[in-house]
Amino acid sequence: MGSENGDDDQIAASDLPRPCPPIRSRYFPPVPYPVLIAAELRDLLTPADLADLDVTWMAAEEPVPQGDFVAIVPLLSRWVGGTELKRLPNLRIIANCAAGYNNVDVVAAEMRKVTVTNTPDVLTDATADLTWTLILACARRLLEGIALIRSGTWAGWHPTELLGLELRDKTLGLVGAGRIGQAVGRRATGFGMRILYAARSAKAEFERDTGAGRVELGPLLKDSDVVSLHVPSTPETKGMINSDTLARMKPGAILVNTARGDLVREEALAMALEEGRLGAAGLDVYADEPAIHPRLLAAPRTVLLPHIGSATGDTRRRMAALALANVRAVLQGQPPLTAVFG
Ligand code: NAP
Repeated sequence: MGSENGDDDQIAASDLPRPCPPIRSRYFPPVPYPVLIAAELRDLLTPADLADLDVTWMAAEEPVPQGDFVAIVPLLSRWVGGTELKRLPNLRIIANCAAGYNNVDVVAAEMRKVTVTNTPDVLTDATADLTWTLILACARRLLEGIALIRSGTWAGWHPTELLGLELRDKTLGLVGAGRIGQAVGRRATGFGMRILYAARSAKAEFERDTGAGRVELGPLLKDSDVVSLHVPSTPETKGMINSDTLARMKPGAILVNTARGDLVREEALAMALEEGRLGAAGLDVYADEPAIHPRLLAAPRTVLLPHIGSATGDTRRRMAALALANVRAVLQGQPPLTAVFG
């Protein structure tokens, strides 16, 4: 890396934290900054996103390489903790390419004064749409209908065949009402649903716009026909849907999870489905991805998707561009656009 006095040796790797010189200097040509980016993002990024950066692409199976990299852009499937940070003594920013950041040891990053960013907002609509895909697929028994057609045994229209749950006048319970939870709730008004939400703080505008009511988790589980999870994975939320909380849900209710897999105890969920206590489960995320608990895989009335909440071309390009915009801001000494820490 260069410096304005031209004496590279004066900048020692152990000098961290130190302010980063601007990418473009009045007196010297641009200096490319060494950055690590998940290889899977290569096709989503434009040359403009990567300008002035000296990119090393990280393959999924490859551990974080050692080096003088100043930024890392990981996917949510890569853990970035103390060991990884030790290999990257010059690191300024972990620009996670996801809204969730439970794959990053934020405390370890904070101790080393490494900024952590995520990619919220740009994926809210895509993830809310996918949540509704799961709600509707569960409520209207979509997979059973498809299986019946494909089996070749469908005998024609029948008045009591594949009766599902009418959503109008039913209750949607949102566990977490941040960006995605609220977007899911706003869509519910079009389906004529009553909305309850459980959150640490009241959402006045959301309540005013949708008529949603804030309740504790217990009453929400008891009164909701559809329960949809939208809290991050934290020590407090992990395992919040377990045998006790599942037992408190309305008989026949639908559980949808597009947040993080470890919010749910998957074996307990599989049992509730096997015993017919729960109407259906629509899941996009799993506790040990890409593995899926075998009992859950075999359980009846599930709609299981492969973590595609944000998977539209537009959204994935916006997520990658936002992650790189955060890198650029921090390297230019600006505040990051979407900081988790720093
Ligand atoms: P957000 O705007 O930060 O909303 C999260 C909400 O959860 C906030 O309202 C928050 O605070 C609440 N919350 C946090 N900790 C809580 C706790 N311990 N107990 C109860 N509520 C708590 O995040 P978002 O953009 O809506 O995203 C939510 C999650 O969705 C992300 O963390 C990510 O894991 C997941 N996600 C998944 C996909 C996918 O591909 N399936 C895509 C995007 C995001 P308050 O309670 O104060 O309101």
